[in-house]
Amino acid sequence: MAFFDKPISDVVRDVRSGDVSARSLCARALESVEGRGRELNAFISVCGDSALKRADEIDALSTNAKKDMPLCGIPIAIKDNICTEGVKTTCASRILENFVPPYSATVVEALTRAGAVVVGKTNLDEFAMGSSNETSHFGPVRNPHDPKKIPGGSSGGSAAAVGAGIVPAALGTDTGGSIRQPSSHCGTVGLKPTYGRVSRYGAVAYASSLDQIGPIASNVRDIGLLLSLISVPDKHDSTCAGRQFIDSEDLYNGDVSGLRIGMPKEYFGEGLSDETRSAITPAAEELKRRGASVVDVSLSNVKYAVATYYIIAAAEASSNLSRFSGVGYGFRADGAGFKTVDDMYRKTRAQGFGAEVKRRVMLGTYVLSSGYYDAYYMKAARVRTLITNDFERAFESCDAILAPVAPSPAYDLGDSINDPLAVYLSDIYTVSANLAGIPAMSVPCKIQKGSLPVGAQLMAPKWREDILLRVGSAVCR
Ligand code: GLN
Repeated sequence: MAFFDKPISDVVRDVRSGDVSARSLCARALESVEGRGRELNAFISVCGDSALKRADEIDALSTNAKKDMPLCGIPIAIKDNICTEGVKTTCASRILENFVPPYSATVVEALTRAGAVVVGKTNLDEFAMGSSNETSHFGPVRNPHDPKKIPGGSSGGSAAAVGAGIVPAALGTDTGGSIRQPSSHCGTVGLKPTYGRVSRYGAVAYASSLDQIGPIASNVRDIGLLLSLISVPDKHDSTCAGRQFIDSEDLYNGDVSGLRIGMPKEYFGEGLSDETRSAITPAAEELKRRGASVVDVSLSNVKYAVATYYIIAAAEASSNLSRFSGVGYGFRADGAGFKTVDDMYRKTRAQGFGAEVKRRVMLGTYVLSSGYYDAYYMKAARVRTLITNDFERAFESCDAILAPVAPSPAYDLGDSINDPLAVYLSDIYTVSANLAGIPAMSVPCKIQKGSLPVGAQLMAPKWREDILLRVGSAVCR
């Protein structure tokens, strides 16, 4: 079920013309946040009062002011690791359970300026570490297509909220697949932009050289609109390149003639389920029918991608999460029995972080420690360059890459939680795009009625999100 069976720009037109009020859209979204959203456990915080107030402000604006708002009155949800001024931002962790940021992330400001109304903060794996949304301190999220299944992670709440039709769009973060994989499992479209396209200011850092904020929506057109709005230049983030994406109507006409689509053999080998393979093959056929050619490409070092990713991501996480010590932010363990300041840190972190976060911090500290730094971290950094080079070479013979997002459709809740290694391995198809810094998008494949959603992944050279949108809208029309 879609929020409105039409693109966001059509809903905006209705708000501007007065056919529908921002307040009524907001009230409807809030009602489903409280209803369906609660059933799915998709939200950590609901912004009822502030959202209705904002909607009323928008309704009171002049026609001219509304004209300057491409998201005039559109309800949206924000992953709860993206800061929102005055609204709790927990990262689904006990350590930030009551943290209220004093400022909003650049992306939140940009969307609010464009007329969006933030209705709630979505559930996620703790600190965005996970692939099933089961590591959240606030409990797992359920898949809107089957409540027994995982929604994917870590942006599971955002993808479930869009997939269930609660909001037309949401923001997520993607460090190693966290926008694309839950989008694949929930039947939504999700884009990880080129590294540096979107400001990370106000996104709680997990692995800073891999993290990107990106949009999740129910169609490709809305993704282009949101990307154009969140990719604003930002002096607060020195890795933000200031290359704003320019959206264009002709990206969505379904024409892919002349484009070369590469299918890497390494992505279609052992480990890929039949269900996923048979959902992606027709997408390639559809692209051919629309005038694209399909070519074989090879990415010989992607077999090292999971190992490389988990060394680099853990190393950066161990450094980034050291700020959560019980001093500057959030939770501090009960003070009565502290012997030393170290004791306070230790008890705060022991009680404040969940098992997966502790595992990553230990792993990261280990690979950065003297004696192991060269063997693990340095080696991973070198392999990262080899993987980046593989993509550069592949893009000499193709314009976009078509691949799976996840090895299989959503699995049962509880199935993997005691086997972290199996969960890490399931990130095999998504982590490479983050290591290489290239843009990648998940679009829903056409599937048989009653089956679980399966996404196809598209990847393009740096800064070529336009190719992803063009190819993506040809795949799912
Ligand atoms: N599943 C990956 C991890 O746990 C990716 C998470 C993400 O993209 N935030 O690290």
